[in-house]
Amino acid sequence: MISNRVKSLSAYKTEVRPASVRLSSNEFPYDFPEDIKAKILEEVNKIPLNKYPDPEAKELKEVIADFFGVKGENVILGNGSDELIYYISMAIGELYLPVYIPIPTFPMYEISAKVLGRTIVSVPLQKDFDIDLNGSLEKIREEKPVLGYFAYPNNPTGNLFSREKIEKIRDEGVFCVIDEAYYHYSGKTFLEDALNREDTVLLRTLSKIGMASLRVGVLIGKEEIVRELSKVRLPFNITYPSQIIAKVILTEGRNFLEEKIKEIIKEREKVYKEMKRIEGVEVFPSSANFLLFRTPFSAQKVYEKLLRRDVLVRDVSYLPGLNRCLRVSVGKPHENDRFLEALDESIKELKESKTTRF
Ligand SMILES: *Cc1c(COP(=O)(O)O)cnc(C)c1O
Repeated sequence: MISNRVKSLSAYKTEVRPASVRLSSNEFPYDFPEDIKAKILEEVNKIPLNKYPDPEAKELKEVIADFFGVKGENVILGNGSDELIYYISMAIGELYLPVYIPIPTFPMYEISAKVLGRTIVSVPLQKDFDIDLNGSLEKIREEKPVLGYFAYPNNPTGNLFSREKIEKIRDEGVFCVIDEAYYHYSGKTFLEDALNREDTVLLRTLSKIGMASLRVGVLIGKEEIVRELSKVRLPFNITYPSQIIAKVILTEGRNFLEEKIKEIIKEREKVYKEMKRIEGVEVFPSSANFLLFRTPFSAQKVYEKLLRRDVLVRDVSYLPGLNRCLRVSVGKPHENDRFLEALDESIKELKESKTTRF
């Protein structure tokens, strides 16, 4: 009885193998300080567990709107941005009309569209990981997608697409979803467009700034668009504990967050420079909290060598255009140092095993 639509999907996979340095999921490397944790405990203790939460999560929505410098009317909260991606794929354009996606990118865009039976117009990125505009325009004019997803910066490549290219694609009548999950690490945004246009919305999330456990995603758009999209939102989609905890963190933890985000950006540049110095490693510039890199060896082998040194990264070499590529998240300084050392040793070992074979 399972539909072919669903049968043809493959389940979303994440890294589950144990390692003491985990740099595979782009998580924020820091938990919150004791005083904030104590305050959270106190607030959580007051939750009536037998009651439904506020279906609109009004208080949290106001705090989040303030945090991102917008108004509550411009915001929809989701159980992670993943849920919001589903809502957008359901609500924007008739389901028989296609969805445009530059690839490789975040897998949920394609999964959500396919679950709904929508066809995908996927266009491979250029060698420099920017959008292939001519290739895209050609396919867009042929297949007429009405919705497009742009991770800005892109995951797993780490770069920002050129704004002009996204605008040109939008000019073809494609409703643009700008996924700014890594906004805090890039500082670049389409916020003005999202607030003023009916063909652009933004996605943000608390997941990459220390609150992945809470599952809170944020859609920002013009009031009229937000009102329509809200009709597909499930009531109570933000749990009571998540509403309470996120509120505490975004009011009392702002300084802590700001400080750590700055540190992560600094570490990203440090790791980038150090990786460049490892012979054979090609590392790509990043505006996110992770780095994409390529080595002369099979990614699977590099992955295993790193894991043997207790460092977990993500093998992304199965994605189109990412032969021999892996992705590493930026962690705490000592974790990054452990990674750099492990990578250096792994590459040396792989070089040796190559020369001894001949
Ligand atoms: C990590 C990530 C998200 C986050 O999804 P949540 O469901 O909010 O955890 C969204 N988009 C991109 C591109 C990501 O890399």
